[in-house]
Amino acid sequence: MYISEIFRSFQGEGKLAGVPSVFVRTSGCNLRCVWCDTRYTSWEPEGSDRAVGDIMAEVRRLVREGEAPVRHAVVTGGEPTLEESLPELCSGLASEGFHVTIETNATRFLNLDAHLISLSPKLGNSSPLRSPAEIPKSHDALRNRPEVVRAYLDAYADPPARDCQIKFVIEREEDLAEVAEFERAANIPKDKILLMPQSVEPSDLARKTAWLVDLAAKRGYGFSPRLHIAKYGNRRGV
Ligand code: SF4
Repeated sequence: MYISEIFRSFQGEGKLAGVPSVFVRTSGCNLRCVWCDTRYTSWEPEGSDRAVGDIMAEVRRLVREGEAPVRHAVVTGGEPTLEESLPELCSGLASEGFHVTIETNATRFLNLDAHLISLSPKLGNSSPLRSPAEIPKSHDALRNRPEVVRAYLDAYADPPARDCQIKFVIEREEDLAEVAEFERAANIPKDKILLMPQSVEPSDLARKTAWLVDLAAKRGYGFSPRLHIAKYGNRRGV
């Protein structure tokens, strides 16, 4: 697997925000979000090829080294579903007793040995069309896949053993019309949807959080914090 980093931190987003976790971050993505906060896994992918056994050994080492027990593993990216060995890694982590979360941009369906599929379909605000010289044209053609989200909802419908959450990154209030359209197209239950502010900087995040919390409540959605951004800004390995 092409891996950019493996580290121990707390989950920053979604329903498990605040839970101590080991993160395995793959490098390489089929999208090019203009505000991507891990450009070293998408626009300019960096990393090294590592065997699943080697990754598992590193995860075990990180778990042993920390003071508090860690039983949650998060496989993120980049886009982890592009990795052929992802099913093997998920099964390995699950068989060692980890709760496994997969963070995905919801462009590809895979039936994995995972407990929580954390889907983040990208809205129009992610479009890199503002910087045409750099853009893979496929971004806008690929990002909007309600049928993939529907497939995950059908396959992971037995919480907490197999569960889904759908996180939308919101830049401005107008983005909510697109969320509603996606919700209808994929027939997503409202209680699966979390809105989170687009930001890579703590003070901007705080400003957007203030209005987005109220907006989410008004529309019947949940809200997801971004604890790692609030605490560290746009730093790697946290
Ligand atoms: S899907 Fe995620 S990793 Fe890929 S470009 Fe967008 S924000 Fe970056």
